[in-house]
Amino acid sequence: MGLIVQKFGGTSVGSVERILNVADCVKEESQRGNQVVVVVSAMGKTTDKLVNMAKEISPVPNRREMDMLLSTGEQVTISLLSMALKEKGLEAVSYTGWQAGIVTEPVHGNARICKIKTEVIEKALQAGKVVIVAGFQGITESGEITTLGRGGSDTTAVALAAALHADKCDIYTDVTGVFTTDPRYISQARKLLSVSYDEMLELANLGAGVLHPRAVEFVKNYQVRLEVRSSMEKEEGTIIEGEATMEQNLVVRGVAFEDEITRVTVLGLRNSLTSLSTIFTTLASNHINVDIIIQSTTETGAANLSFSIHTNDWLEALNVLEDHKAILGYEQLDAENKLAKVSIVGSGMISNPGVAAKMFEVLAANHIAIKMVSTSEIKVSAVVEEKHMLKAVEVLHEAFELEK
Ligand code: ADP
Ligand code: ASP
Ligand code: MG
Repeated sequence: MGLIVQKFGGTSVGSVERILNVADCVKEESQRGNQVVVVVSAMGKTTDKLVNMAKEISPVPNRREMDMLLSTGEQVTISLLSMALKEKGLEAVSYTGWQAGIVTEPVHGNARICKIKTEVIEKALQAGKVVIVAGFQGITESGEITTLGRGGSDTTAVALAAALHADKCDIYTDVTGVFTTDPRYISQARKLLSVSYDEMLELANLGAGVLHPRAVEFVKNYQVRLEVRSSMEKEEGTIIEGEATMEQNLVVRGVAFEDEITRVTVLGLRNSLTSLSTIFTTLASNHINVDIIIQSTTETGAANLSFSIHTNDWLEALNVLEDHKAILGYEQLDAENKLAKVSIVGSGMISNPGVAAKMFEVLAANHIAIKMVSTSEIKVSAVVEEKHMLKAVEVLHEAFELEK
C-alpha cells in the first residue's frame, strides 16, 4: 500500500458538481489500495472575492485579519469534500491547517512552513480515513493563523508529501500539465512530459503560475515525486524530476512571463561605497522586493541606478526614496510603468553559448525594445513594454522551436 498526496486547485473545486468529480478521483485512488491525503484550495475565485471585500473596507487591510479572512475559503472546500466522500462510502475527515499540524513562521500573508506535526494525520490514516487538509494556511507557534502567499496550496501539498514520506504528490489543475508556455495565451504551447527541478523552479519564479515557487523548492529539497495533471481529463501529466529525461536536446524548454513591472531609475547618485547598500537596505526594510538591478557610472563619477519592482510597490518605493533623499544623495527619481518580463528557461543553456544573443536578435527583428536584462546559468530575462509581452513570448516560442 502506498501513500499519495493529491491537490486540487480552485477551478477543480469551483462548484458542487466539481467537488463531486474530485470525490470520484479521490475514491479511485483509494480503491487502488493507497492511503490518500487530499489538499484543496478555496472554491473558484473565492480568495479573489474575499480580497476585494477587504479592500472595499480598508485600502491596506490589516495583515493578521486578512489571514483570518482568506483562510476561511479553504475551510469551505474541505468540509464539502469530506461530506461528498462520506456520501460515496469512504471514511473521511477534514482538517484546517492548524488541526493538521502545519506550523509556519510568524509572517502574515506570505509565511513559510517551518514544520509539520504529522501525528493527527497519521492517526487518521491508520484508522483507514481519507484525510482532507485545507491548503494555503498554517499556524504560528503562538497560535496565530497565517497564509502562505497566493497559490500556496501547492506548497501545502508538497510539504505534506515530504513530511509524510508520501510515494507521490499529484497536483490536479485546470491544464493537463506544465507546458512550454502558458497555454491560455499561446495556442502553440506544448505539454512537456518532464521538467527538471531547476527548470521548474526558474519557470515558477519567473511567472509560470502553474506551480507555487515554494512548492518547487520543497520538491527539490526533499526529492518529492511530483506530477502536474488535469482534474478533468485522464491523460498523463508532467513529471517534475531531478533530471528531465526526455527531450534533453532542447536548449530552451519554456518561456515564462509576467506583467505589472515598474522600472525605477535613480539618477546622479553620489557614488560612495555605501550608497547602493543604503538604497536597498531602505527598500528591504519597507518590504519592497527588488528584482533586476543595473548600475552605471557617469563621467562625473556619479552613478545612475535602475531597478525593477512589482507595480503594486512603486508608489511606496518612490515615497521611501524621497523620504530618504538627504541620506541617499541623488539628484532625480524616475519611474516607468506598464512593463513586463519575458524569460526563456532551459538547462541546456549552460553548454550552449549564443542563446541570449539569439533572444535579443529575435526581439529586435520584431521591433521589441529591451529595457533591462538579467541572466542566470539556465535563464535569460528581458524587460519589455507590457503591450509587447505576448508578441515577445510568441516569437521566442517559435524561434526556439518549442512547439515541435
Ligand atoms: P490551480 O487553481 O489549480 O492552482 P492555477 O491557476 O494556479 O491553478 O495554475 C494553473 C494555470 O497556470 C493554468 O490555467 C495556466 O493558465 C497557468 N500557466 C502559466 N504558465 C503555465 C505553463 N507553463 N504550463 C501550464 N500552465 C501554465
Ligand atoms: N486559495 C489561494 C489562492 O487563491 C491558495 C491557492 O489556491 O493555492 O491563492
Ligand atoms: Mg495554483
